[in-house]
Amino acid sequence: MEFRDLNRQYKEMKSEIDLSIKKVIERGHFVLGSEVEELENDLLDYTESKFCISCANGTDALILSLMSWNIGPGDCVFVSDFSYVASASCVSIRGAEPVFVDIDLHTYTMNPKALEASIIRVINEGRLNPRAIIPVDLFGLPANYPEILRIAEKYELKVLEDAAQGFGGAIGKRKACTFGDISITSFFPSKPIGCYGDGGAVFTNDESVAELIWSLRGQGRTRSNKYENTRIGLNSRLDTLQAAILLVKLKKFREYELETINCAANLYNHLLDGIVLTPQVPENYLSSWAQYTIALRDRSTRDILKLELEKNGIPAMIYYPIPLHQQKAFGELGKEEYFIENSIKASQCVLSLPIHPYIKEEEIQFIANTINKVLRD
Ligand SMILES: *Cc1c(COP(=O)(O)O)cnc(C)c1O
Repeated sequence: MEFRDLNRQYKEMKSEIDLSIKKVIERGHFVLGSEVEELENDLLDYTESKFCISCANGTDALILSLMSWNIGPGDCVFVSDFSYVASASCVSIRGAEPVFVDIDLHTYTMNPKALEASIIRVINEGRLNPRAIIPVDLFGLPANYPEILRIAEKYELKVLEDAAQGFGGAIGKRKACTFGDISITSFFPSKPIGCYGDGGAVFTNDESVAELIWSLRGQGRTRSNKYENTRIGLNSRLDTLQAAILLVKLKKFREYELETINCAANLYNHLLDGIVLTPQVPENYLSSWAQYTIALRDRSTRDILKLELEKNGIPAMIYYPIPLHQQKAFGELGKEEYFIENSIKASQCVLSLPIHPYIKEEEIQFIANTINKVLRD
């Protein structure tokens, strides 16, 4: 059994993907070819955002966003503490400081009350200039934007939505990748919509920001001349081959994958209810289930269950074993007096189970039965 079975997905759409790849190779325009523009347009059509700039990966998408706001030394950015390292390393790479914010234990996303407390603390300390908030749409679920956007407005902070795992999620009719002043996603193979390598995209409704990011991803070039450079930028473009693959995958994602993965999650919820803490999706929210993450009562129960599942051929992963504020990469940041207890608790108790649009009912039943057996013994 695979954790996320990309091979099963490929078999389902093989003829279309092969044809799409072949066309690119025969035409020979390998970087930012016409498929890239087509993909950006399809992404805009799906998310209903105004501007989309594809780039080389999700991490670059975050860095480009912070560059466009000129966030750097002396600035700070509030980041959800329970996430992949890139959500915060993008801030450090710019020479600014991430301030780690605790999460909500029901959803694993940024806790708005903890956010406001962190903002007030930084303002009172007066050492750093608060600039932006990076809420993370973790495991496919949008963060609590109704509250976070209200706080952002109150303290005049920008919001950078890290939807690297969040593509396809929604709150009501509003889709992920539209909640931030800038929003980003990743097309890493295991994300809700993944390519066969690295890829990413930035979304915004702000035309001047879009124009700046377009220039920054291409060495700071001007529109009219690739060899006229008006600012220092990155080389962060999307390969045409990846766009060609993503065009096919986005179509399938819209046609049925988002629906089938929600069926899989519902079956898990039904079978595991009362046995483990199943993931909570608040009313009116939609998850795209980048991960299906349960919580156990404590670390030893979690670690035993992970081992027993693996003995039965079921891969299970810990996302994330170390809260960001405890990562050595960030040095002493966040290791002081603040309370980040939910994030610490989550890192000890969570376990992500296999999920993808092609997982079979029998497989979910087998996993749930195995969990039931292990926890009963
Ligand atoms: C994967 C991920 C990223 C980085 O995306 P890459 O394409 O791998 O660079 C950033 N933030 C979160 C939350 C992620 O899961």
